[in-house]
Amino acid sequence: MLLRNRLLSLNLTSFLSPPSPPPKSASFLFSFNKTIAHSTHKRPESKPDVSASRAAKQPMSERARFAKTVLFVPPGVDPEDVTDEMILPGSNIVVGPYAGHSQIKEVEFVKSSGRAKDCPKDDRPEFAILGRSNVGKSSLINALVRKKEVALTSKKPGKTQLINHFLVNKSWYIVDLPGYGFARASDAARTDWSSFTKGYFLNRDTLVAVLLLIDASVPPQRIDLDCANWLGRNNIPMTFVFTKCDKLKASKGKRPDENIRDFQELIRENYKQHPAWIMTSSVTGLGRDELLLHLSQLRNYWDQ
Ligand code: GDP
Repeated sequence: MLLRNRLLSLNLTSFLSPPSPPPKSASFLFSFNKTIAHSTHKRPESKPDVSASRAAKQPMSERARFAKTVLFVPPGVDPEDVTDEMILPGSNIVVGPYAGHSQIKEVEFVKSSGRAKDCPKDDRPEFAILGRSNVGKSSLINALVRKKEVALTSKKPGKTQLINHFLVNKSWYIVDLPGYGFARASDAARTDWSSFTKGYFLNRDTLVAVLLLIDASVPPQRIDLDCANWLGRNNIPMTFVFTKCDKLKASKGKRPDENIRDFQELIRENYKQHPAWIMTSSVTGLGRDELLLHLSQLRNYWDQ
């Protein structure tokens, strides 16, 4: 709780007491060519854009500017109207009108695919879970679905390099992707990973967002930053899910909230609007319900 509060206060101080001096975070630069819009593949132009119409009438307030650059403001929410009660604890995610039923009642393994074109073709929305080997991906998937064995499928020999689809509540998919950055992987194996996984990202129309897992118990890793930047450059919507946020007692090195802040500093120059991020722990359950709620709002927006 303390950690969540500390991190929130780092990011929200200027939001809660606008408008001067201008929040440092409002100076994010926008260097990607394509707009990294709300975290769905749908273009915002297809929806009535409340913020745009209001902006045409009056200059954007410092509060709204902060909300637009630092927070993840979902479709249906005007940045001018964001209050701190709308922000999920331990995250920058604003909850909007599309948030709904989020708990997982049932989950079933559907199939493993070697190529994007072999993946299920039933047009259900899906979230891909991606991260460095050992980041805590299996633990997180198991924590989300509250089953011990679900993600183990992808750990079986032969399945580690496959795209594994799990059907949730018979209506949407969690997709377990191969971990990247195996310390001992040969160059050939790394190339394989990138070519087929990149093919999945670039061709999967039903991909609502990538959950990019980042280990908060270690300093920012080059390979994670490269992955985040690649996804950003290719306009793939993503949410940073920081794992192992319970690891507060590390005898050396920085605390998870400090590592998270360092990571955000390193990627901030690539985004005008910061991607959604959330702190989690599969050990304490931190962030589980909040992450599921976030997925519900992305999914419901995508669905309708
Ligand atoms: P994967 O290779 O990404 O699937 O990672 P695993 O889920 O197998 O986890 C790798 C290691 O990190 C295991 O020893 C887990 O027990 C540990 N781990 C995973 N999640 C957490 C977490 O939230 N907190 C802590 N303290 N350890 C974790």
